[in-house]
Parts: sequence; C-alpha cells; structure tokens
Amino acid sequence: MRMRSRLRILPVLTALVAVAVALPALSQSSARPEGAAAAATGRGRVPVPRPEATEVVLAVHGGAGTALRREDTDARTEKAYRDGLADALRAGRKVLRDGGSSVAAVEAAVRSLEDNPLFNAGKGAVFTEDAGHELDASVMRGSDLAAGAVAGVRHVRNPVSAARLVMERTPHVLLAGEGADAFAVRNGLPAVTQDYYWTQARWDSLMKAKEQSRSGTSPSASRQIVGGQAVGESAMGTVGAVAVDGKHDLAAATSTGGMTNKMAGRVGDSPLVGAGTYAKNGTVAASATGHGEVFIRGAATSTLSHLVEFGGRDVAAAAHEVVHERLARLGGTGGVIALAPDGTLAAPHSSEGMLYGYLTADGKLVTKVFPDETRTGR
Ligand code: ASP
Repeated sequence: MRMRSRLRILPVLTALVAVAVALPALSQSSARPEGAAAAATGRGRVPVPRPEATEVVLAVHGGAGTALRREDTDARTEKAYRDGLADALRAGRKVLRDGGSSVAAVEAAVRSLEDNPLFNAGKGAVFTEDAGHELDASVMRGSDLAAGAVAGVRHVRNPVSAARLVMERTPHVLLAGEGADAFAVRNGLPAVTQDYYWTQARWDSLMKAKEQSRSGTSPSASRQIVGGQAVGESAMGTVGAVAVDGKHDLAAATSTGGMTNKMAGRVGDSPLVGAGTYAKNGTVAASATGHGEVFIRGAATSTLSHLVEFGGRDVAAAAHEVVHERLARLGGTGGVIALAPDGTLAAPHSSEGMLYGYLTADGKLVTKVFPDETRTGR
C-alpha cells in the first residue's frame, strides 16, 4: 500500500523537478534576446544598444580594425579619411536626389570608396600571400531579395559594378575568378591590370605580415589581421554602403580586397549574401566588415535581419547582439552598418575602431573616424 502511494507520488515529484529545472532556463531565454530591455529596466548589466542616428537615408563604412588614434593621427590623414567617406556619401546623395534607386546609390558610394586608394577595395586593395590582388564585392536589393556578387576578380576596376551587373543581367548570384572578370569586360566595365591596385602602404603591410609570420608573431592570418591591415596598423579597409530611397526600398553593398596575406583563392564574407551583405525591405540593409571567416560562420547580416523579423528586436538591439554577442562568441571582431526602413542607423563594432559616415534626409553629412566619436561602439 505504502509502496503504491510512493509510486503515485513519483511522477508528480518528477514533474516538479522538471519545472524547477526548466524555469531558470525559460526565464533566461526570454530575457536574453531582450538584453537591451533588461538593461532598460535596470535588471541587466548589458548597456542599452542605442541607434547611431535617425532619419538616415545613406550610410557608408570604410572598414573595421585597429583605430585611427587622435594622438597619432595628423590633421591631413584625418581629413583624407573624412573626405573619402564624405565623397562617397555625396556620390550616393546625388543619385538619391536625382530620384535614383537605393541600389544605384549604394553602388555610387562604394565605387567612390573603391577609387580611393586609402580603402581596401578597388585601388588600394590589400595583397594576397603571393603578392597579387583578388577582390570580392556584392550588392543586394531589399524589394525582391535580388542579389549579385563577384569573388576573386583580378582585373575589374569597380567590383561593385560587376556585382550589380551579375544581379541585373544574369540568372546567377555569384560569379568567381576568370569567368567574373570576363563577364565584367563583356558588359563594358573598365578592366585594369594588377598594378592598378598597387599602393605602397598595402605593400608595406604585406611585408610586415610576412615578417610577422616568419618570426612567429602571427600564428594565423585569420586571427591576426582585420580590416585589411596587419594588427597594430592604423588604416582600415573594406568598404560598404546601405541606403533607403524615395520608394522606401532598401539596398546594401560591400567591396573588399580581403585580408592582407590571405591565401590565393580565399573568399571572405563580403561577396556572400547573408554574411557580408544583406537587404530586405521591412527589416534592414546591412554591410559588414571584420574577420570574414567568422562573419560567414555566423551568417552575420542575415541573422541581423532575422532578429528583426522573427526576434522582435529593433535594429540597434539586433546589430548589437550580432556583433557583440554572437560573433564575439565565435571569436570574431568587426562591425556592421545597419539601416532600418524608417532611417534608424546602427553602427556597432567590436574592433577598436570603425570608419563610417552617414547622410540624413535633410542633407546633413556626418563622418566618424575616431573611436571616441562613436556612440554604439565597444
Ligand atoms: N571582411 C573582410 C574579409 O574578410 C575583411 C574586412 O572587413 O576588413 O574579406
């Protein structure tokens, strides 16, 4: 009799234990995504992810990595980076003012950065380990999720334009290598020889990276180099743009030479839809920069979009979670510019610095080159 009543109690006890075990986990999982909300109510330690700006119609970045430091950046260098970002914003602004699409605006902005030797895209791209240049770029249209990309091109002056042509003139999303170079030429894009991309600064970076790997201070390219520069150097690299146009259509584009001393044939996140670039009307347009391998594994920009669409986050909370939590857990640093359809911009970065700028609907241009200027950084 006593035995039978014990047996009857057993399932009840088991259920109680299960509930006790599940409760903290449940409350954790409902609190976690709302780290921002928890902080807002004073319950959590996570700072509230705040947007960088509102009323933004176009934003650009010039890569994440070791910061430009006020104390050792002369006025000319600071101006050169600010001008580079501002020129890109002006190029995109002209398109938008003329009634052009967000796709055309991000292409124009990124082309301007590709033509600027300060940035690691187009002219000024970093070197591969065998002293060549292989460039990656992508573009995505938020209205219908159309996308185009090129990887490992060696002779295209403006890879972002090749990416747009892939999107608009082929049934494919990504063309790589010689086929992509040939496609670009066939479609009338200017071709260049490899020496076009050459800059002394990138050559010096390659030499330094090789010296570091010879002396054993650079155990792995993917860990030691970010922003297209060997760690310890101040220049940034990869470029990207996000925009919303008069029809409320979003677009994003990213372009890069990749990482200094990368293996020949290595492809990073920049040409991969959902990793380096993503745009979806109603959620976000995002362009990433940082450790490409981690951004690929973490599906950085599509995750950001999903967190907005399915996770109920606003753009600042979603971008913060991707950069500071999800990618950080995978061991990667970098940043992202993320534009919501209502013009809210987030620009978090876990790297020491990220170069970026934005244009507001009333025509104001803002550039950020020093870490102390950024609100949503580390
Ligand atoms: N994400 C780029 C790549 O891995 C590098 C960068 O953003 O600096 O190719």
